[in-house]
Amino acid sequence: MRVYALPLKNRFRDITVREGVLLHGPTGWGEFCPFADYSDIESVPWLTSALEASEQGWPAAVRDRIEVNTTVPIVPPERAYELVRASGCRTAKVKVADKRATLAEDCARLEAVRDALGPAGAIRVDANAAWDVNTAVHALGELDRAAGGLEYAEQPCPTIDDLAAVRRRVSVRIAADESIRRAEDPLKVAVAGAADIAVLKVAPLGGVRRALEVADACGLPCVVSSAVETSVGLAAGLALAGALPELDFACGLGTMSLLQGDVSTATLSPVDGYLPVLPTAPEPDAFASFAASAEVTRAWQDRLGRVRSAAGR
Ligand SMILES: [Mg+2]
Repeated sequence: MRVYALPLKNRFRDITVREGVLLHGPTGWGEFCPFADYSDIESVPWLTSALEASEQGWPAAVRDRIEVNTTVPIVPPERAYELVRASGCRTAKVKVADKRATLAEDCARLEAVRDALGPAGAIRVDANAAWDVNTAVHALGELDRAAGGLEYAEQPCPTIDDLAAVRRRVSVRIAADESIRRAEDPLKVAVAGAADIAVLKVAPLGGVRRALEVADACGLPCVVSSAVETSVGLAAGLALAGALPELDFACGLGTMSLLQGDVSTATLSPVDGYLPVLPTAPEPDAFASFAASAEVTRAWQDRLGRVRSAAGR
């Protein structure tokens, strides 16, 4: 196992450095990188996902490339414009409702993103469950106007009931993310009526096979997103996107641009807005520059040990 610490270009939620463990097994590399706020029990699916990649491999793909969105963090409009232009993507996901930005600033960022994409581009927003129902209804109206039409809004409110209430009152499509990945049993989450789209993340759902079951159970169009992993973890997201029977939207897997580097020279950065589906994760051959300190390594070894016991593996 190897522990990495990769700085982010911009603060993302509450973190400035992404950390995790790379595990090697008979079928290649897997990545274990639950965020700090995941308990040992909540981290078990992340371990299952890493072990699926390293010990079992992934189910066969039905497509060989995946269209991806670029992600726009909380940055000034000029920077947002540059990021979108440089990405080559036709779809942008814009973070909104962050404590560091007002609604007016979110609108200004969306206007800049629309300028960068042109009328044919698609813009989605992610509020990370920040709003109550009334705030969401008001904000989504404003943001939809500023963006010249939103493709969808990801997790405007924390609960399924709130999502359903917002969905009844706005014309913007609603996507469920946290409601699925942090659910006690994602297979039992009834998102029908509360969302138009399901966002699936391989690691918190416990691997590609498990995520395929969740996709089947929820019966909604799916978007595969990353948890801001290195290319090792991203490859698992691409395996899921490659294996889904239907895929109608660009996926949130173009997140290498959020990190200041990668553990592999075969880095999964989109070309013209697309990423390839790979049979196995890339080799971490550029790992040395991002090896974690001894202290961070020990902390992750301990965490992995605790999660292994919790998982009985
Ligand atoms: Mg999200």
